[in-house]
Amino acid sequence: MKIISSIREIQDLALTLKRDVRRIAFVPTMGFLHEGHASLLREGRKRGDVLVLSIFVNPIQFGQHEDLDRYPRNLDGDCAIARECDVDIVFTPTAAEMYPGGFQTSIRVSNLALPLCGASRPGHFDGVATVVTKLFNIVQPDVALFGKKDFQQLAIIRRMTLDLSLPVEIVGMPIVREADGLAMSSRNAYLSPDERRSALCLSRAIRLARERYAAGEHTAETLLTAAQELIEAEPAALIDYLELRDVDTLETVSTVSDSTLMALAVKIGATRLIDNTLLGDEP
Ligand code: AMP
Repeated sequence: MKIISSIREIQDLALTLKRDVRRIAFVPTMGFLHEGHASLLREGRKRGDVLVLSIFVNPIQFGQHEDLDRYPRNLDGDCAIARECDVDIVFTPTAAEMYPGGFQTSIRVSNLALPLCGASRPGHFDGVATVVTKLFNIVQPDVALFGKKDFQQLAIIRRMTLDLSLPVEIVGMPIVREADGLAMSSRNAYLSPDERRSALCLSRAIRLARERYAAGEHTAETLLTAAQELIEAEPAALIDYLELRDVDTLETVSTVSDSTLMALAVKIGATRLIDNTLLGDEP
């Protein structure tokens, strides 16, 4: 497994691999890898001749008062997981390598980036779209894999790839959860044992909404109220957003269907967690 931090080096390597008609599969991450990331890597391994993982905590997608400085990092642990998943190349650039002095270009996806996390984290998705575009240009992937855990991010990257005619196939992968339902996230490392228990209210709210929907309740307001009450019963939890939206347009709906996305962001103490489900999907 090669570990590369220079853009020039990995770009040259990628272009050489492509001349040899090698298919490049790519999994971009911010590191502190867990089983959710590993599921993307294993699928990437099947879809490419060469599997590239990037680890980059992207400063431009963090707001001023967010957790950039304390975001968990563990390059040795990440490399061990990467080896287990048979990764060929790990790309770990510095912020100075990715954003040289004078950097002033941004990619913005409009409507899809406005609601949900876009509303609570202004500028976040500009940072994501910009870094993913850069990473695509650097790594030259044929296929890139993203988790549905960050559903809005996946929707934005699909839109951007289509709009900009980027020659990359985008694959969305299911949310990997802990045995008790908590969606895996690098940020779960921030949670104290008590907060870890409180954090179950996100997946429980989702499960409750899914059950009520399956039992025939199709009124958005009723489903949202039930989910909201469940979360508000948890003293450590503070809802940032809890919404039902059309899976394609991300516009709000008043009557739900199989193609309705329930998405939520909840602060557990100081830690903001997200989760989502498509009501008509398999659990
Ligand atoms: P991150 O390191 O948090 O930026 O995540 C890198 C990629 O892994 C993104 O495409 C995420 O959606 C995906 N990912 C993170 N957590 C999970 C999870 N629990 N299940 C599936 N994919 C995930």
